[in-house]
Amino acid sequence: MKTLIFIFVVLAGTSCKGRKIMGLLPDENGFYTIGDMMLSKKQTLGYFGLQTKKSKFLGGRSGHWNEDYRWPNGTMPYQFSNEFPFSKKEHTLVLDSIDEFNHEMDGCLEIVHISDLEELENELFFHPLNYVNIRKRSTGCAGTSHVGDQNWSKYGGQIIGLGPDCFIKGSIIHEFVHAFGFYHEHVRADRDNYIKLNLEKIEKMTERQQHQYKLQKNSLSYGLPYDGGSIMHYPSSFGTTFKSLKGFPIEKFGQREKMSECDKLKLKKMYKCDIGEYTDTKECLDTTTSFYCEYYKRNGMCYDNPFVQRNCKKTCNNCDACMDNYGRNKCKNLSYDGRCCEKEVMKNCMKTCNLCGII
Ligand SMILES: [Zn+2]
Repeated sequence: MKTLIFIFVVLAGTSCKGRKIMGLLPDENGFYTIGDMMLSKKQTLGYFGLQTKKSKFLGGRSGHWNEDYRWPNGTMPYQFSNEFPFSKKEHTLVLDSIDEFNHEMDGCLEIVHISDLEELENELFFHPLNYVNIRKRSTGCAGTSHVGDQNWSKYGGQIIGLGPDCFIKGSIIHEFVHAFGFYHEHVRADRDNYIKLNLEKIEKMTERQQHQYKLQKNSLSYGLPYDGGSIMHYPSSFGTTFKSLKGFPIEKFGQREKMSECDKLKLKKMYKCDIGEYTDTKECLDTTTSFYCEYYKRNGMCYDNPFVQRNCKKTCNNCDACMDNYGRNKCKNLSYDGRCCEKEVMKNCMKTCNLCGII
């Protein structure tokens, strides 16, 4: 009952624009900040599971479910804001990050300077054209970004803020992935199977910092494995914020070098792009002597013996089956170590990594 009253009070408090939600006050534009994400009122209500019937919003997820927040044609126009001018080095690094992102997304998604789009505006977009304003923040490390396309053209585009003290490619790309529609990996619904939060440490954080670890029950992760190596995962601050429950090395959480294979796949799935080839397209052959395969087949071993399944595909007429190419133990160990988002592991441990029908 107490919870109900509490929810009622929170919802009642948000009926006017600009009221507090879970202790958070909106900025002058009505956006609420959680970590490096700037969320609209609807998104914030969703993040805390406080969505109203009217908003029909299902919440802050690993990926944003609502297609209204997708960039048309997967194209994100950008321009630089000169409020705090970028140095030449910083400017080049942003351009390099954009190039790398575009290259990694194989034409599925593209970040394009707004001046390159003017002629195409009528053809590609409904008016008005939204875009991202890349702004250097005055101080500090943290970046900021909205989650998904906010249709904010009339206000001068939506902002990606970059902190001058942490100007690295991975952090810049992290903010672009938010802008394309993803939340953080460590809040997805299954995270408690993979990491154990240090609640003592988190309770000592400010309320605002604690929100960054709130589990999102309806996470949208497109069936892909939990990914400690995601560019959207937080680091563990040397194991103090959370511990690894499986074999994924604690120091590898929160890497900011490049997008993982699963990061790219999730973006491609969100924008309904072709995800490329993961299954083995080689001619379907037996990989052990066919004489033995015939023997195994006669003895009914085609479907319950992993060795026979892997090595007698042709004889057993098992070419389309989703299976592990590596031995079962090897796949089990790789999966336990959280390596199912590595391309070679994905291809060769499809079954153990639960990727059948996903990739
Ligand atoms: Zn973030």
